[in-house]
Amino acid sequence: LDATPIETTPADQIPGAQHLWFVPLGGCGEIGMNMNLYGHNGQWLMVDCGIAFERATPAEGKAIAHTIAIAPDVRFIEHHQKRLVALVITHAHEDHLGAVARLWPKLRCPIYTTAFTAEILRRKLQEAGLLSEVIIHVLESDGSVSVGVFHLEWVLMTHSIPEPQGIVISTPAGKVFHTADWKLDANPVVGNPFNKARLQQLADEHIDAMVCDSTNATSPGRSISEGALYPGLFEAVAHAPGRVIATCFGSNIARMQTLATIATETGRYTGLLGRSLETMASAAKATGYWPATLTLSEPSHLAYLAPHEVLIIATGSQGDHGTALARLAQHRHPDIELEAGDTVIFSARTIPGNEQDVESLVSTLKSIGVKVIQAEDSPLPIHATGHPCHDELVDMYQWIKPALAIPVHGEARHMKANAQVALANGVDETMLGTNGDLFQIAPEVKKIQGFAPTGRIVLR
Ligand SMILES: [Zn+2]
Ligand SMILES: [Zn+2]
Repeated sequence: LDATPIETTPADQIPGAQHLWFVPLGGCGEIGMNMNLYGHNGQWLMVDCGIAFERATPAEGKAIAHTIAIAPDVRFIEHHQKRLVALVITHAHEDHLGAVARLWPKLRCPIYTTAFTAEILRRKLQEAGLLSEVIIHVLESDGSVSVGVFHLEWVLMTHSIPEPQGIVISTPAGKVFHTADWKLDANPVVGNPFNKARLQQLADEHIDAMVCDSTNATSPGRSISEGALYPGLFEAVAHAPGRVIATCFGSNIARMQTLATIATETGRYTGLLGRSLETMASAAKATGYWPATLTLSEPSHLAYLAPHEVLIIATGSQGDHGTALARLAQHRHPDIELEAGDTVIFSARTIPGNEQDVESLVSTLKSIGVKVIQAEDSPLPIHATGHPCHDELVDMYQWIKPALAIPVHGEARHMKANAQVALANGVDETMLGTNGDLFQIAPEVKKIQGFAPTGRIVLR
């Protein structure tokens, strides 16, 4: 580390040897574009660098609203760039790594992550022409490493993508458990279950603060296991007379594999339509997360098969314009033509804000005689969330026993609900805030509002 002080930096923006600071620049008070900073003894560590999607108002003369990608304003850490020792990526969802290729030139630090996430990241850096410049250190799911003044330990969680990692961040001033995105799934279909033994051990190691996913804190009970979706999806496919098109989130490798397994069992060939599905499946193959027994067919080959022999997994569950399912619905797909008697299964929930687009896609599909099965009208579950509901948060607080809970990854109401779960389950203190606030974890717990400038920049 270059110890030369940055002259224009006020001294109170530099964490001291007694300090452990947490400063979210994105993802705190909102869902999306996660970017977290930890500060200790003159150094900063960044955890995740994601994007969010926003609806743009239609340009004049254009009827269709479009989606734009946005990222956090990194002015603050750009100013402290010499003190930034590393960027850690917890998992390969866009809201955690989507902004790396765009923002890395301002960060210029080594990246630490696990193999699957690194595989996705390399593809993005390659496209941006940055692959040769960025150093990526690949760790095991239970690996650990010291970077500057931070000691980092990866803890395997379960979520809706391979290798979701919680990170234990230790410094001489204090210790944090950064959960990132997680749920407690005993049967995640792909990859190993979460490392329960290690999570329970952390209680004996005194965690000063747990920075925790709040997405589903207002939902009672537990999330459904990814492995529990097989019967509902099997029923839906087995009873379909014609083609089956199943749409899910592009990064859900487990869902793709459940659907591909069901296809084999019901005498159908599977193919993927849509770039995000293809990229994810290819990364899964490259990193050992795709069993050789699950074969995928080229969409152009599926076109020659009888309808009842076809199961297509397609992007477009949110009704977005231009995705595979939208093109199929409008008879604008080069390979596949949908017909009356075909079935479309939405193995996804509708993200708030997308209801109108999904509704209009569903009515277009129905108008050509396609049967539509949405997650909410299936008698058995055909979609599972990747985030912890109330009872899972209870488990985690009881396992980790942190002195302080800092809810993130949610809107204010989700974070407030998460804080209430913490307080009701043995956590003495919680801190609620928003992007740009300084959460001081050590020496004493306090918050400074508006510590770092924040904002959003439009990427595309
Ligand atoms: Zn997330
Ligand atoms: Zn995620």
